[in-house]
Amino acid sequence: GGINFDAYEDIPVETSGSDVPPPAGTFAEIDLGEALGRNVGRCGYVRPTPVQRHAIPISLAGRDLMACAQTGSGKTAAFCFPIISGVLRNRSSSSQQGAYRGARTACPVALIMSPTRELASQIHVEAKKFAFQTGVKVVVAYGGASMYQQLRDLEKGVDILVATPGRLVDLVERARVSLQNIKYLALDEADRMLDMGFEPQIRKIVEQMDMPPPGIRQTMLFSATFPQEIQRLASDFLSNYIFLAVGRVGS
Ligand code: ADP
Ligand code: MG
Repeated sequence: GGINFDAYEDIPVETSGSDVPPPAGTFAEIDLGEALGRNVGRCGYVRPTPVQRHAIPISLAGRDLMACAQTGSGKTAAFCFPIISGVLRNRSSSSQQGAYRGARTACPVALIMSPTRELASQIHVEAKKFAFQTGVKVVVAYGGASMYQQLRDLEKGVDILVATPGRLVDLVERARVSLQNIKYLALDEADRMLDMGFEPQIRKIVEQMDMPPPGIRQTMLFSATFPQEIQRLASDFLSNYIFLAVGRVGS
């Protein structure tokens, strides 16, 4: 599907929180680095969508984000661009590349959680395009499929793991994935994950990340709607966050 930019001209955008970074008018205004900037063009993205205009500068500023936006608004790039950029920045100051601890435990720096295998798979495909020629390794893991290939992929090294909650809990319990190094966490379609009953798994996963030594985790929560359960997740998982609503948001 494409983006109908004309439909966005008078879409209402609401932000709240302290010291909200200003939105970017164009991709050129956003410092994504050379390789990632090139890939934006390669993907045919000429200008950022409203959620991208706001979310990317917020996230690049290191802030936690609660973003509410409809399907088709361009959320994938909104969380992938700052994550890839962060992984690259992290790299130059860290010796752990495509971190892989010990023989069998993968230690990604970024985690993107998604409710279904189809959505996780789509994010994986997009993220690989965005990460083209950056050296950033993206791996996907979801249930309902053999774990064998996923384990092989994890063993080759992973910076960004895209996963469904159930399969991720399984991989963590088998010590095939460690969440100790996670610096960037994105929860996509959080309302759908809760509708599917994944709240216990999600909480378990986030608790793993909060285990000592306390990491400096940056978290982005994306949801089409903003009901009480999502508000609770936001207050439990995010710190000093910025709230962003694009378009009309139901609860
Ligand atoms: P969402 O996750 O919000 O439903 P997606 O990230 O899947 O939306 O984006 C919807 C479609 O729009 C995808 O085909 C994507 O490649 C395209 N797209 C996203 N951002 C842009 C942009 N800035 N310019 C052009 N197309 C875009
Ligand atoms: Mg999406």
